[in-house]
Amino acid sequence: MQALVLEKVRQLSLRPIELDEPLGPHDVRIKIHTVGICGSDVHYYTHGRIGPFIVEAPMVLGHEASGTVIETGTAVKTLRPGDRVCMEPGIPDPNSKATRLGLYNLDPAVRFWATPPVHGCLRPTVVHPEAFTFKVPDNVSFGEAAMVEPLAVGMHAANKAQIRPGDLAVVIGAGPIGLVTALAALAGGCARVVITDVQQPKLDLAAKLGPIVPVNVANEKLTDVVNRLTGGWGADIVFEASGSARAAASVFEALCPGGRVVFIGMPLEPVAYDVVAAQVKEARVEHVFRYAHVYPRALALMGSGKIDVKPLITDTFSFADGIRAFDFATRMPATSVKAQIVL
Ligand code: ZN
Repeated sequence: MQALVLEKVRQLSLRPIELDEPLGPHDVRIKIHTVGICGSDVHYYTHGRIGPFIVEAPMVLGHEASGTVIETGTAVKTLRPGDRVCMEPGIPDPNSKATRLGLYNLDPAVRFWATPPVHGCLRPTVVHPEAFTFKVPDNVSFGEAAMVEPLAVGMHAANKAQIRPGDLAVVIGAGPIGLVTALAALAGGCARVVITDVQQPKLDLAAKLGPIVPVNVANEKLTDVVNRLTGGWGADIVFEASGSARAAASVFEALCPGGRVVFIGMPLEPVAYDVVAAQVKEARVEHVFRYAHVYPRALALMGSGKIDVKPLITDTFSFADGIRAFDFATRMPATSVKAQIVL
């Protein structure tokens, strides 16, 4: 089959690849429709590695996918050919201790699309377990369905924050993950979200998505805005979604006493963390790694209209233009959020 293959760092090709994919009794075969380009795909392309995961052999990219079921295994009960679906890209070992504890995203044996050495989904068809394949509501497009993967990260962070109705949340960083975190926080009960960035077009887009207050930290201090909105008390929740080491070190500044911090972004180096600043506020600090079983709730929120990700899909490319799409994504203009490839 024809696939978008990362041959090695900085070298992509659209070429045939031999993949043997037998259909197990609990699997479905899916014709891929849309695949979003993630920051991680781009990072493998430009750097050939993320932390301990190193591209040592040609690998098909892509993990944010939607499509249509074309074949079902003999034991599949909930899906049938023709169903429109999106797929959770990480498959854990069902018998691992992490999975049995309900922490399957932390299973060391998890096989995640386009994380070396596992091939991703930028190819015409995939075989995937029924349990990690989710039916998409009729009013949700294939493009939106491919956004469930990044949205799931924001949903998982919103869960970790244990939002209470009426909370004020800060989201640091208005990239794709910051924006979906803001949407998940509002859907989860936050009255208002304050979002920061230095790219004004991203903030302008954020301000159109709901009760979201944009703060360009190049011209304005986040703590000034939060103090103004909360009578000097501080934000109930701070989500760090920028991955900037400097931002990560400052998460307690805008936080209220007794507030919660959720680290989502992945800084490239260790961050110096001010323990005393956290102690004097008795901050509760959480971390997320991907997500665990939030796809059904993300799809429910999209289906009901409580979450609209359409404004985040800014650029669409054909599969034939896949390499151009990746070159575009490596130099993403400030006006773009998510680029997708339609097969
Ligand atoms: Zn992703």
